[in-house]
Amino acid sequence: MADLEIACVCGQVKGVFRNTGPGYGSRVICYCRDCQAAAHHLGHPEALDECGGTDLFITTPERMALQSGADKLGCFRFSPNGPRRWYTTCCNTHIGNSPQDAATPFISLNLACATPGTRAVVGHSTRGMMVRDARNEPNVPRRIAGMSRKLLFEVVLRTLLATLRGKRGTTPFVRDGEPVAEAVMLSREVRAEALASAGFK
Ligand SMILES: [Zn+2]
Ligand SMILES: [Zn+2]
Repeated sequence: MADLEIACVCGQVKGVFRNTGPGYGSRVICYCRDCQAAAHHLGHPEALDECGGTDLFITTPERMALQSGADKLGCFRFSPNGPRRWYTTCCNTHIGNSPQDAATPFISLNLACATPGTRAVVGHSTRGMMVRDARNEPNVPRRIAGMSRKLLFEVVLRTLLATLRGKRGTTPFVRDGEPVAEAVMLSREVRAEALASAGFK
């Protein structure tokens, strides 16, 4: 176990997941069009891998703390039921996604914002999700269509256990039970623009 450090592109937002390791989360690369569109919308397509993948560590945020820039979190979503997509307002770095109910102890952290020296702390990704939307042929050992049963089980179990430990609401994204930033719902036009920029019609 070691610390996983995160930082936005401009360095104003810095955070850490303390004492974490491969057993504390699920590694998955998501190739879905919305994740690709989100990276383009934020102006950081370089955060995607060469196949358009977003490298995620799906975990609970209880070990996460922001050391600076806590006032620089913004949030948007593409659809009313879509995930809250958290980013930094200083330089549009995507941090991760949380569910509709922001107090749920769940975060799919975008490892593109993890500092390269600490990224290996969470192990290596073996699963590719929504590979049908990938830009090229990804080299992932296992492919899952959406949330596979095993992945869903891992994520639900971890979230449930954190809830039972009283960690509901223990996240940098929630203060006094309320999300620190409103999830701005993007218009259909803006989403279409982001998708087009990512190469989807
Ligand atoms: Zn920044
Ligand atoms: Zn996705």
